[in-house]
Amino acid sequence: MHDSFRALVHQYNTEAGIEALHYSSIEGDANSPIYLSKGLNLRDGKVGWGQWLSETEERRRYVPQPEAIRTTSYSMRLELDEEFVKLKINSIKDADKNDIRKLFYHEAGHGMQMLHHPDQSNVMYYDITGEKNFTAYFADVRTFFAN
Ligand SMILES: [Zn+2]
Repeated sequence: MHDSFRALVHQYNTEAGIEALHYSSIEGDANSPIYLSKGLNLRDGKVGWGQWLSETEERRRYVPQPEAIRTTSYSMRLELDEEFVKLKINSIKDADKNDIRKLFYHEAGHGMQMLHHPDQSNVMYYDITGEKNFTAYFADVRTFFAN
């Protein structure tokens, strides 16, 4: 499973044209977990959730003058339906590979603060079925990392 996710993240970065994501199989080495949940689809009627997290740390320094120093760090939390992932991620069928790609890219998009897009050809459209165009999506990903 780790190799499959590593390959998916590699493909993501290649398509993004930047090193947007880094995959690690070592839990302590990562700041953004991917959870595979049994029965997520049955529980929530969805095969994935993606959310972003932000944490702000404030420090104060007094020299040369009183000043608050704020550092905000962002991470994401993805939860994917285990059965859906297992069925699709190692499949040799192009349609299955594309399904896991659309799911992962969509949820990672939420992890980068993207909301649902009104255009149904955009991968951030609320429904990931059907043909998707990734051009606008990756433009948004690059903008996110440029800021
Ligand atoms: Zn969504």
